[in-house]
Amino acid sequence: MPVSSEKTHLTALTPDEMTEFVVGFGEPRYRAKQIFKQIHERRLLDFAEMTDLPKALRAKLSEVATASVLTVESKFVSEDGTRRFLMKTADGFPVETVFIPTENRDTICFSSQSGCPLKCDFCLTAKLGLLRNLTAGEIVEQIIIVLNDVYGVAGELPHGTNLVGMGAGEPFLNFENLIKATSIMSEKDGLFIVPNRITISTAGIVPKIREFAALERRPHLAISLSAPDDELRDRLMPINKRWNVEELFKAAKEFESTLRRDERFTFEYVLLGGVNDTDEHAERLAVLLKKHKLRRVKINLIPHNAAEPLEYGPSAPEQVMRFKEILESNGVSAYVRTPRGRDIFAACGQLAARSPVAIEGRASAN
Ligand code: SAH
Repeated sequence: MPVSSEKTHLTALTPDEMTEFVVGFGEPRYRAKQIFKQIHERRLLDFAEMTDLPKALRAKLSEVATASVLTVESKFVSEDGTRRFLMKTADGFPVETVFIPTENRDTICFSSQSGCPLKCDFCLTAKLGLLRNLTAGEIVEQIIIVLNDVYGVAGELPHGTNLVGMGAGEPFLNFENLIKATSIMSEKDGLFIVPNRITISTAGIVPKIREFAALERRPHLAISLSAPDDELRDRLMPINKRWNVEELFKAAKEFESTLRRDERFTFEYVLLGGVNDTDEHAERLAVLLKKHKLRRVKINLIPHNAAEPLEYGPSAPEQVMRFKEILESNGVSAYVRTPRGRDIFAACGQLAARSPVAIEGRASAN
């Protein structure tokens, strides 16, 4: 739990762990709930602000514990209202989080790892490599920091927040911390963001899709596909060499059988001009879905976001529509995702700044 400091990161503790901590600390058990509420319900990360707690307790806590291990290094606000946060862990690793407002609800896109070990050819985050897994507390803290920035510390949230695990990293390669974070965030005495409002995206870590399927209260699932056959997917997403399209679809089919009433899952498909976006690719994708009898799936078509030095470009707008129509004419639901925050490099596949200087340079060059 401690991250490069001797102090316990309280934001990472489940209610049970908080009780254990409090008791070990010589305090009555009921303090656990009080502290948990200060951090997760009131979203206070500084003991000095936790005025519901006795001063002596706060002083004692601050000697051995902290609620805050991330610092915001810089923030960029897009013309469409999207906000991108570049944070840093206590030991100096970059963490990126994106706030995406829409009329009816907000979405926060959080990172599960600093950098990413997967080498998807069209994604900028891949160029960083894996720096390290984020702790459960670092995952939760991203959300608290963003909500406080938007609505003020301890401010009321005007409407529900959705979370997507689609920032930097491969969530299923940091499975335990990810699931722990979602469980902490779903607490009624805390952020109360229930799994039903969370979607986790994986590049296709097959055994973890099965493990995820077996969880009792699990978030929704999205799988990044981006190619309808092994030859192309091997090239675009090397993780395919470990678990190929056939294995991925088998796991997806099993996952489908665990869906709740009215629930669907998603395949994401990044459209790369001239690479995976032809009519034939769309037809092959439809055939693949039919072959595996996948019915409760929708396809999110993501226009490729430019990210120097990647060599790919976006599909022509007419081709995006054709791709969607071909899928639909085969009875497959397909949606084209509107890119958000491209101007501040906050869109899918663009998260990879090591330092604020690096993004400022890139953003202004854009
Ligand atoms: N590693 C997980 C979580 C990251 S989600 C996963 O791959 O699912 C990020 C999403 O953005 C993925 O669906 C990925 O395919 C997509 N993406 C990556 N680079 C992109 C780019 N340059 N333009 C558009 N989408 C991109």
